[in-house]
Amino acid sequence: MSENEYDVVVIGGGPAGYPAAIRAAQNGLSVACIDEWKNHDGSRAFGGTCLNAGCIPSKALLESSELYHRAASEFSAHGIGLKDLEIDIAAMQGRKSGIVKQLTNGIKALFQSNGVTGLQGHGKLLADRQVEFTDADGNSSVLKANHVVIASGSVPVELPMAKFDGDRIVDSWGALDFEEVPQRLGVIGAGVIGLELGSVWQRLGADVVILEALDDFLFMVDAQIAKEAGRHFKKQGLDIRLGAKMTDAKVEDSGVIVTYEDAGGQQTLEVDKLIVAVGRRPFTDDLFGDGTGVTLDERGFVTVDEHCRTTADNVWAVGDVVRGPMLAHKGTEEGVMVADLIAGKVGEVNYDAIPSVIYTAPEIAWVGKTEAEVKESGAAYKVGTFPFAANGRAKGMEQTDGLVKLIAAEEDDELLGVHIVGPVAGELIAEAVLAMEFSASSEDLQRTVHAHPTLTEAIHEAALAADKRAIHSINKR
Ligand code: FAD
Ligand code: NAD
Repeated sequence: MSENEYDVVVIGGGPAGYPAAIRAAQNGLSVACIDEWKNHDGSRAFGGTCLNAGCIPSKALLESSELYHRAASEFSAHGIGLKDLEIDIAAMQGRKSGIVKQLTNGIKALFQSNGVTGLQGHGKLLADRQVEFTDADGNSSVLKANHVVIASGSVPVELPMAKFDGDRIVDSWGALDFEEVPQRLGVIGAGVIGLELGSVWQRLGADVVILEALDDFLFMVDAQIAKEAGRHFKKQGLDIRLGAKMTDAKVEDSGVIVTYEDAGGQQTLEVDKLIVAVGRRPFTDDLFGDGTGVTLDERGFVTVDEHCRTTADNVWAVGDVVRGPMLAHKGTEEGVMVADLIAGKVGEVNYDAIPSVIYTAPEIAWVGKTEAEVKESGAAYKVGTFPFAANGRAKGMEQTDGLVKLIAAEEDDELLGVHIVGPVAGELIAEAVLAMEFSASSEDLQRTVHAHPTLTEAIHEAALAADKRAIHSINKR
């Protein structure tokens, strides 16, 4: 093979693309990964949205703000008094940036040690699996590949009446970089980003109003869990207004004047900063030349089958740019699957067992079907719930908000869904994911020994409760 020929060229170095490149190299293939991510300061980095402007920086700030909030509101219950509690936003942001840098540099190191050629610049798929690569200085070359993996990700949806200006009206990336706490913060969209970033700045002292167009709160979450979470968010002071459709946002010297309509008619709201978080769209700008054979669906996602094959031979697509939940771990599993399939190995993603986590406090995490989805399927089912208020470890942690809800089939007891709102729900859900991956029954969880005292006992008890055998709560007959 010549210098510009590869077994696999991956376009996009986010959590879908870089694992695909690494696994393909582990499989003995020659691989190049092209990525054009550019930071606000002009520097380049692999890792895509997740590492640079998504999962990782948001979780760093969620942790810092949560510690501050707990120190201010909870430490006294432990008998710990704190004088002159202060926030240093610059230090908080510095810690966040340090974590991002370590992890994005880590990808470079992983590429090197696995023999992946990392190329920073723009990639464009041409006909016959040729890929045009343009570097930062505008120099172009053409790479030839036996297989191409598209992993170009997604970008925030921009609303025409509230265009991002990078100062007053920002997307989630801008909201991760505030240099001070806005006094009045508006958020459009009570989805995952709205709730996570709204929580960060509310904990640090902002007055936060979240406008959500739908009448339903967290429509994709099990209704009982969403209701429980909403109750706690309200108690924390998040002002979430449902059925509120923004019609205009005007930037003035004093702030942003937001106009919206709700059941009561036209309303206005003035804020210092406005975060628009109304979803993300697949990113395919300047990605395809003529005659590639790749097609997009009506929503702009690259069309793929269940194994992420596009409509063009030996062109694959993974991650946010294809159907399914826009989650880093979903993209990673797809990238790894594709790299294994290209190498002639077995590869599969179990789309029925992909966990979702919302990193609020309490956290929300789930896997499988909601109760409404199970009901709609017509299958007979049983439900077990268990509150963290009755869990010894949660009490010791002073983290008793929330519950575990488990749904199993009446007929054969197979787990259909597990839903948690509570402390470290995002960690706890792993047990349920593994159980569902192995098609476990609620009885399997009931018979599994859980260490005491741990939060996982709440999952154990919820499984027991599904058969009205919980030990530490009253089983309703
Ligand atoms: P991306 O991460 O978007 O990466 C695509 C890469 O391809 C980018 O670097 C882009 O510059 C590059 N690219 C695009 N086109 C080209 C081209 N033509 N040539 C070269 N390079 C190109 N998910 C979770 O699972 N957990 C979380 O906690 C979580 N938190 C999030 C928080 C926020 C604020 C946001 C915005 C998202 C969050 N997500 C989270 C979603 C997660 O970030 C995405 O699902 C994930 O990054 C998608 O991975 P990807 O590789 O498909 O795309
Ligand atoms: P989202 O789809 O989660 O939520 C968008 C919300 O905005 C919805 O509730 C929607 O009804 C509302 N909305 C849409 N248009 C509106 C309008 N004009 N006015 C008011 N409300 C409106 O999208 P997001 O929060 O932007 O997140 C984007 C993606 O990023 C999600 O798909 C999510 O999977 C991913 N993400 C994941 C995590 C995580 O896993 N913890 C964190 C952040 C983001």
